[in-house]
Amino acid sequence: MVSILPVGILAFWQHQTAVNNEFSVVENQHKVIARNLAIALDRYATDLRSAFQLTTDNLQNTNKIKGLEWHLSELYFQHVCSIDATGKIKRLQCALACPQGQQFPETVLAALEDTLRAATDDPGTIQLSGITHNPEQQPAFYLVRKMADGNTAIGEISTQYFVELQRAVAFGEKGHAAIVDNVGRVIAHPRQDWMNSMKDLSGISVVQKMIAGENGVTRFYSPAVKADMVAGFNVVPAVGWGVMVPQPQAEIFQHAQSISKAALTIAILGIFAATFLSWWISGILSKPMQLMADAAQSVAQGDLASKVHLSSELRPIEIRRLEKSFNRMIDDVGRKNTVLVNLAHEAISSSSHKSAFISSLNHELRTPMNSVLGFAQMLEMNDEEPLTEKQKSAIEHILRNGNHLLELIDQMIELNEIEAGTLPLNMEDIPARDVFNESLYLIRARADQDEVSIIDRTGDEDLPLLFTDSTRLIQVLLNLMSNGVKYNRKDGVVALSCEQLPEHMLRISITDNGIGIPAEQQDSLFQPFERLGHELSQIDGTGIGLSITRQIVEMLGGQIGFESSEGKGSTFWVDIPMSVKQASVQKTVKASDSAASNNEDQHESGPDRTVLYIEDNPDSLHLVEAIIGQFGNIRLITAENATVGYDLSTSQKPDLILMDINLPGMNGIQALNRLQQTRETKDIPVIAITSNTLPKDIEAGLKAGFTAYITKPIKVSEFIQTIDQTLNNAGKLG
Ligand code: ADP
Repeated sequence: MVSILPVGILAFWQHQTAVNNEFSVVENQHKVIARNLAIALDRYATDLRSAFQLTTDNLQNTNKIKGLEWHLSELYFQHVCSIDATGKIKRLQCALACPQGQQFPETVLAALEDTLRAATDDPGTIQLSGITHNPEQQPAFYLVRKMADGNTAIGEISTQYFVELQRAVAFGEKGHAAIVDNVGRVIAHPRQDWMNSMKDLSGISVVQKMIAGENGVTRFYSPAVKADMVAGFNVVPAVGWGVMVPQPQAEIFQHAQSISKAALTIAILGIFAATFLSWWISGILSKPMQLMADAAQSVAQGDLASKVHLSSELRPIEIRRLEKSFNRMIDDVGRKNTVLVNLAHEAISSSSHKSAFISSLNHELRTPMNSVLGFAQMLEMNDEEPLTEKQKSAIEHILRNGNHLLELIDQMIELNEIEAGTLPLNMEDIPARDVFNESLYLIRARADQDEVSIIDRTGDEDLPLLFTDSTRLIQVLLNLMSNGVKYNRKDGVVALSCEQLPEHMLRISITDNGIGIPAEQQDSLFQPFERLGHELSQIDGTGIGLSITRQIVEMLGGQIGFESSEGKGSTFWVDIPMSVKQASVQKTVKASDSAASNNEDQHESGPDRTVLYIEDNPDSLHLVEAIIGQFGNIRLITAENATVGYDLSTSQKPDLILMDINLPGMNGIQALNRLQQTRETKDIPVIAITSNTLPKDIEAGLKAGFTAYITKPIKVSEFIQTIDQTLNNAGKLG
C-alpha cells in the first residue's frame, strides 16, 4: 500500500516524460529529414541548371554532345528546345518526351509569362518557373534562358523526381513528406489529386513560414489529414521550394502512451512483486513471532515447559537468535521459578512453624500463669487472713507483671495473626453510638484508677451507621484511649469526638492533654516494640499496641493519624468507613457505669450443688478448688482425664461441669460431645476452662456447645460470676 503513491507518481511522471521525449525525438528527426530533403533538392536544382546550360549551349553548336539525351532523362527533363519570338521551335533536344508539332504550346507560354520576362530582362541567366501544367496537363517545371541569338531556350522537367523523393519518406500511419513551390503550390504530396491540381497550400501556417524563408519545426492543423500535426520544414535555398515532413501528433501521443503503458505495467507488476515479497517476508518474520507470543502466553499461564521450535525453513539469523534467547529465557524463568517456589514453601512452612510455635508458647505460658495469677488473686481476696502491707505490695507486683506478661502474649498472637492474614473480621452495619458507648464504658474503670477524666464529645445527635467489625474498632478506640490515659497526668483529660468527612468516612478523634510525643520520635511511633523511651518508666506497655492498631484500622478500610506536641498532649484520629445504609439510626441508651456489678452481690445462697472439674494440671485443680471453696454450698469433685470425668458425670450427675480442653486421651470437645449424647448428662451445663485463647478456638468451643468459655489465667471475680450465673440458670431450668 505504501508503495502505491510513489509508484503512481512515478508512472505519471514517466508518462509526461515519455510524451516530451517523444516530441523532442520526433521534432529532431523531422527537422533532419526535412533538411536532408532540402539538400537533395538543392543539389537537384543545381544539376538541372547545369544540365540545362550545357544543353542550351549545345543546341547552338553544330558538334552535338553525345549522350546528353540520357543525361537529361536521368534528371527528368522532358525536352529542351529553343523558340523564336513567335513560339516556333528552332532547335530541339528530346529527353523523356518530345513536344507535339513545331509550335511551342501557347498555354505554356502564357503560364511562363513572368519567367520569360525575367529571362528577357536578364539574358543568359537561367530562370526557374513555378509549378505549372504542361500541354498534357501534367505538373511540370520549366527552365528558361534568353539565348545570345535572340531565341529563348525552354526546358520542361517533370515532377517525377519530387514525387519519388516524397514517396521515399513515409513513416508511422500518416507521417509523410510534402514539397511545395516558392508560392506554396503542391509539387509532391501523398494526395495525388492535390498534385494534379497543384493545390495551393499557402494558407497553412507552416507553408507560410517556408515562403518567408524559415526553417525549423512547428505544430499546425492539417486540412489534408484533418488532424493536428507536428512538422519539420526547410526551404531549398537555391529555388525557394519548401520541404516539410509532418506527422499527426496523435501518433506521437500514441507512441508515448504505449511507452508509459509499458512503464505503468512494469510499475504495477513491481507493486505486486513488492506486495508478494513483503507478504512472504512478513510470513517469515511473523510466524516465529506468533509462536513466541503463544509460548510467552503459555509461560504466563504457568506452563514453563513450553518452548519455541521453529521449523528449519529459511529464517533470518536474528529470528533464530531470538528463538534461542527466548528458550534460554524460559529455562531461566523455570529455574528461578523453582527457586522461588521452594523459597515460598520454606517461607510458608516457616511461617506456619512460627504460628504453631506462638500458639504452643501461648498455651505453655498461660497454664503456669493461671496458677501464679489465680493464687495471687486468691491471696488478695482472702478476707479471713488479711495480708500485711508488704505482702499486699508483693502481690500487686506479681499481678501487675503477670498481667503485663499476658498482655504481651496476647498482642504477639494478634500481631502474628495480622501478619499471617488470619485475623478474622466480622464486618457489619453498626451504629457509631454503640461502639462509642461500649468503648467509653470499658475505659472508664482504668481512667478512674489513674484519676484521668473521660469526656464524650461525640454529641447527642444521631450518629451515623458504621460499616465495620465492632469488636475490632472497640479494641482500636480502647487502645488509643488507654494510651491517652496512660501517657497523661493526674487530673488529665481524654476526650472522644467525631466528625463526618466526605467520601463516607467518620473521623473519630481521641485527644488527651498528656505528656505528648517529642517531634523527633514521632516517625517511629507505629514501629512494633517501640516505646519511645518509656521502656524503663512506671507506665505499663509493650510497644505493640499502636502497630496492631494501625494494621487493624487499615484492615477495616480506614486510616490512622495523629498530631502531638511534647508537654501539651496528643490527638489520635481514625477514619472509619460509614455504612451506605444510613437509615434511621436508633438512639441507643448510653451504657452507664452502674452496669458494672459487684461480684460479691452475685453470691446467691441456694441449695447444695455439685460441680465436677475435669483437669489434668494439678495447679489449676488447686486454684479452682480454692475458688470454689468460697462458695459454702458447692461440692467440688474432680477428674484427671475425660474418661474418668465422663464416668463421674453419669454416676454423680453434677449440676455443672468445668472442663479443660487439652486433656490427655479424649479431649474436652470430644468429651463434651459424648456428654451431650448421653441421656443422663445431656442437660448438664459444661464450661470450658482453657489456655486455647485464639479467637478460632473460642469460636470452635462455643460452637461445640460449651455454656461458657473461660480463658486461663482465670480472672477470679469473672469466674465466680460465671459459675454463679450458670448454676442459677440451671437451677431455674431444673
Ligand atoms: P505501649 O503503650 O504499649 O508502649 P503503643 O504501641 O500503644 O505501646 O505506643 C507506643 C509508644 O507511643 C508508647 O510507648 C508511647 O511512648 C507513645 N505513645 C502512644 N500514645 C501516646 C500518647 N497518647 N501520648 C504520648 N505518648 C504516646
